[in-house]
Amino acid sequence: MSGPASKAAAFDFLERNANAVGTLSDSLFYFGELGMQEHESAALMASLLEEEGFTVERGLSGFPTGFCATYGAGTPVVAVHTEYDANPNNSQASGVAEKRCIVDNAPGHCEGHNCNAAVMISGAIAVKRVMAANGIAGTLKVFGAPGEEQLISRPYYVRDGHFADVDAALHVHISGEFDTCYGLTHFAAVSAYFTFHGETSHASVTPWKARDALDAVVLMDVGMAQFREHMETDLRAHRVITHGGDQPNTIPARATVWWTFRGPTAEGARKLFEQGRRIAEGAAMMTNTTVEIEVMSAVWPVRTNQGLAEVIQRNIELAGLPAWSTDEETFARDLQKAAAVPVGGLAKKLTPLSGPTRQRSPSNDCGDVSWVVPMGRVGFPANVPGIPFHHWSAGAALATSIAHKGTLAGAKALAGSLLDLLAVPADLTRAKETFRTEIGDVKYRPLLPPDQKPPVALNRELMEQYRPAMRAHYVKARPRFV
Ligand SMILES: [Zn+2]
Repeated sequence: MSGPASKAAAFDFLERNANAVGTLSDSLFYFGELGMQEHESAALMASLLEEEGFTVERGLSGFPTGFCATYGAGTPVVAVHTEYDANPNNSQASGVAEKRCIVDNAPGHCEGHNCNAAVMISGAIAVKRVMAANGIAGTLKVFGAPGEEQLISRPYYVRDGHFADVDAALHVHISGEFDTCYGLTHFAAVSAYFTFHGETSHASVTPWKARDALDAVVLMDVGMAQFREHMETDLRAHRVITHGGDQPNTIPARATVWWTFRGPTAEGARKLFEQGRRIAEGAAMMTNTTVEIEVMSAVWPVRTNQGLAEVIQRNIELAGLPAWSTDEETFARDLQKAAAVPVGGLAKKLTPLSGPTRQRSPSNDCGDVSWVVPMGRVGFPANVPGIPFHHWSAGAALATSIAHKGTLAGAKALAGSLLDLLAVPADLTRAKETFRTEIGDVKYRPLLPPDQKPPVALNRELMEQYRPAMRAHYVKARPRFV
């Protein structure tokens, strides 16, 4: 059995397990884990898949919170991947249309990656059940991708060959709408820590004995500011100083600035990063310091495939928008009012597929995947339309029935699309053909240095500081798929 009947079985499974889908999404919401510290989230997802009969590889590419779960055998190989990290200082109570922390100043979900994870896991389990019941051939892979907010993990997965045998990969991401797209969607980015090393001395007694690392950070900043006049207009460079010394009477021997360089092409981002490196070396020379450069993120622009967009659109239409209640609609409007965005309520109609889409300046670390295999994106309506991500208002609906209904709809669209790709050879062929045309003569060359190691300590201290207080709010029930 393939086609509509198997899809109906997947949709039935998800309807029947609506509670488990919601509990999974809520569990991750209250874990509220920062990038690279998603230990509870990854453990729960990996164990759910394992209990379901998937073979789980934990610690993928050296990421303690990354995993790949595999079910089935042989070709085609279809994959789904997504992120599940939260953001610092984004703790927000759910179901209230005003800014209110769950734990003061703690990390939290204010974009909805908790829902992304629930769509991925429940959609994959639904597909696995249908594959098992109907003897559908092929392999399903589920990739857990840590640290999206810092653009980290997926370039490592691509570099290490984890997508080498994949025929098509779907990414799921929360939205206010139920839609998909094709074309270039996001910018490429390289971000790196520039740490300058000098020598301390008393700032008042023997300043001439010092080599001032903070001076180098300041001079790099001046150099970048001067260079801006000569940057192509669509390039971006932004930075924060993460360490500037300890106290004024000790000239700092160590200072660090974290820069992000972006552009519409990988080559543009690479060239800007190289310019940043030259400026840093110049700053080091001027201050008699040395500079050490540690790449944090290196991602290609995101490109979504037309053939896969057509498959996803068909399945979005089949799943349909959730039926919103009057209370949900009222809450959405109250929230839009409070966030000072247009008050249009929840999504009420589907947008027909059109494209190519307009490329925008944010980045996502799934970009590298999209240049080695056809990649599609399922946008699902689990948040309130028009709400700005990372703002408290984008967290206020994430453990409500709005999120639960939108997540369930997203899981259906994902499951339906994966089943098409497993069982309808023409869909996969069209994805591959359109992919070849879209890529043209661009050669994928990773921006990630070949010997780069995952930044496993990122966000550790911050997370450890808040986790004990956050633990009191964890969901007690464990999601159970029946
Ligand atoms: Zn996101």
